[in-house]
Amino acid sequence: MYCRNCGNVIDDNAVICPKCGVATGVSMQQQRTNTLAIVGFAMSFIVALVGLICSIMARRQIKESGEKGMGLATAGLIISIVEIVLYVFLVMVMMIVVAIALGHE
Ligand SMILES: [Zn+2]
Repeated sequence: MYCRNCGNVIDDNAVICPKCGVATGVSMQQQRTNTLAIVGFAMSFIVALVGLICSIMARRQIKESGEKGMGLATAGLIISIVEIVLYVFLVMVMMIVVAIALGHE
């Protein structure tokens, strides 16, 4: 669609024109949830790294398009980061345990 204020072509879901910042008149009820936010949230439970990347991309898209799903994308981002931190911690603990075990041989 076209912006009523500046005439630039903007995303059909945009609530606010990214070019001039004027409201487009699209109601929040008509907003779609960003697909990447849903994918990122779901993937954060399965493959943390994929969830992290999708969530970061979703947040960037939502900021530009004004779509729904910012909360979902933020949740996916946090869950992914927590998982990665826990995984790194677990690997470090395992390495220390193995190092101690080998040291006693
Ligand atoms: Zn505009």
